[in-house]
Amino acid sequence: MAKAATAKKAAKKPAANKPAAKKAVAARKVLIPARHGKATFLKKGQSIKVINTHGTQVVDCWAFNANDLREFMSMEHCRVMWARYPPKAGDFLYTNKRRKILKFTVDTSPGVHDTMMAACDRYRYELLGCKTYHRNCNDNMWEAMIQAGYHPSETPSPFNLWQNTPVDEGGAINQYPTVSKRSDYLVFRAEMDLVIVFSACPQDIMPINNKDPKAAHFQVV
Ligand SMILES: [Zn+2]
Repeated sequence: MAKAATAKKAAKKPAANKPAAKKAVAARKVLIPARHGKATFLKKGQSIKVINTHGTQVVDCWAFNANDLREFMSMEHCRVMWARYPPKAGDFLYTNKRRKILKFTVDTSPGVHDTMMAACDRYRYELLGCKTYHRNCNDNMWEAMIQAGYHPSETPSPFNLWQNTPVDEGGAINQYPTVSKRSDYLVFRAEMDLVIVFSACPQDIMPINNKDPKAAHFQVV
């Protein structure tokens, strides 16, 4: 199974000074290449650190129940539970069955994230005037999930980490560059066995990634 394969791959990395094998796995930092996605299995109780390596990058995030991909982290259900738009460190994230899937435990950034905007997709870029294929978060999620051996049935609305798209007093949604700084990170703890997916958003037409999409990293801690 994909989850076993992922764990094995991580364990293969040789440890420099022979620390415990478990530590070697925890120390491995995984690249989310610019404009691409990456998925990994997390066992209940494990935590994952997502790093905004360059500080300017939005990272779309999804989480699926590893035993039933039809249950997934759902922003619309989360907002009901929080009674506000963005979450804060300390909040749980909920599924479309209103069960806890992640706990958002640490945020070193100013806490600006988006829970309302759909993932960018090929149609979004066509509407923005692209005449040829433009990489996008929707396809990144599918590529990453399939690469990890999972086949979801739909693209849930993502948790857009560091995305600075606030709603103004009149209800309009603005789009600005991130306010995070280099190496800011977030930590999430798995509340069930799950597969988590990240996409380093390829948006280079709107200013959310400073019009210069970059890589990011994650690390199981
Ligand atoms: Zn995107």
